[in-house]
Amino acid sequence: MADLAELRCVIGDCRFGIDEVDYTCPEHGELGTFDILYDYDGLRAQLDRDAISASSIANCWRYKPLLPLAPDAAVPPLAVGWTPLYDAPRIARKLGLRQVWVKDEGLNPTGSLKDRASALVLARALERGIKTVSAASTGNAAAALAGLGASLPEIDIVIFVPADAPPAKIAQLLVYGAEVLLVEGSYDEAFDLCMETCAAQGWYSRNTGVNPFTTEGKKTAALEIAEQLTWRAPDVVAVSVGDGSIISGLYKGFYDLQRLGWIDSIPRLIGIQAEGSAVLASAFHKGLAAQDIRPEPASTIADSIASSLPRDRAKALRALRRTGGTFLTVADAEIQAAIPELAQLSGVFAEPAAAAAYAGLKAAARAGVIEPGESACILSTGNGLKDVARARKSVKGGIRVAADFHAVANALGSAGLI
Ligand SMILES: *Cc1c(COP(=O)(O)O)cnc(C)c1O
Ligand SMILES: [Zn+2]
Repeated sequence: MADLAELRCVIGDCRFGIDEVDYTCPEHGELGTFDILYDYDGLRAQLDRDAISASSIANCWRYKPLLPLAPDAAVPPLAVGWTPLYDAPRIARKLGLRQVWVKDEGLNPTGSLKDRASALVLARALERGIKTVSAASTGNAAAALAGLGASLPEIDIVIFVPADAPPAKIAQLLVYGAEVLLVEGSYDEAFDLCMETCAAQGWYSRNTGVNPFTTEGKKTAALEIAEQLTWRAPDVVAVSVGDGSIISGLYKGFYDLQRLGWIDSIPRLIGIQAEGSAVLASAFHKGLAAQDIRPEPASTIADSIASSLPRDRAKALRALRRTGGTFLTVADAEIQAAIPELAQLSGVFAEPAAAAAYAGLKAAARAGVIEPGESACILSTGNGLKDVARARKSVKGGIRVAADFHAVANALGSAGLI
């Protein structure tokens, strides 16, 4: 266990021991999500970044000393994290930026960044001898919990997912053998049903935001970005935002590193929302406090970022305000066009919500939110194979041809290819 981990409420100055409360602050309710904070002076005295850099562990557990787990804690065996950070000079040139990197979270075991949160929540469940873990999800968090859960025979997984989630995501849940409730309703309804059932049954909830281990797991993406750039953070990180948990986790990762003195500054975080699901973006630009946010209808092709009342709204707003970042919105048409553009400029095939981060970085460059001399990282949060139907709609082409050499030659000739 990283020394003296404690829970600190994002709304008030409420503090608890890490074993005292499972989910949100007893005083501030669902809005009072927790940060897990450490004794940073103690950590600094025991650890240094070069020792981490020398680690041979090529997954997120290379950061175990910076996570709320005992040094000998058991962890799920699947290799989560340590995803590649690709230099993308063609994107940098196109956007007029100094340097752009793409971090491909689609290469995680179940195809999205959500594996990081599920891995840490399941490690915590193992530590506590928990039998059943449950989550509600638009798809990826559930797939992550189901997949990592399948690697642990001692834990059962129960999933609440909207019945209209993309078929690939539902297929993942069923293939991994989770118990799956296909809720005839929205993600928000599935979320509430899951919380109620967990309370009634004594199951452990992995729900985004309310379980503080979720953001703590997601922070490992920020630790990796910094380490992969030899402990220098980019000027800006662009990430798509639904519940606000990933962006909060990124902030927490960079915050920890700054407290340790391992990086000099925290990047400006740019949160990208879909125009049709932009509760946080509008609250940010209106200067609203998290307490004053009300649900709004949410509809976008980027299913992973549809959220009418973002669960981690307090932490997400704080992350952007503290880093000098901002929120931008992009239209569904821009998101769809971003899928092939990102793939063709970087080789990274992203699902709609992940491609939205690229669409958003373009919008940020256009709007002057990021300057030509600056560097940026695009966090590509999920794999393009998660939503093949949408990917297929984003591109035209393919030359239909008879299975005959002359037909091929004719077709290539007509297409001007030979
Ligand atoms: C969950 C998810 C997001 C958004 O993360 P939040 O924590 O809900 O803001 C973005 N992209 C993908 C692929 C996701 O699965
Ligand atoms: Zn509180």
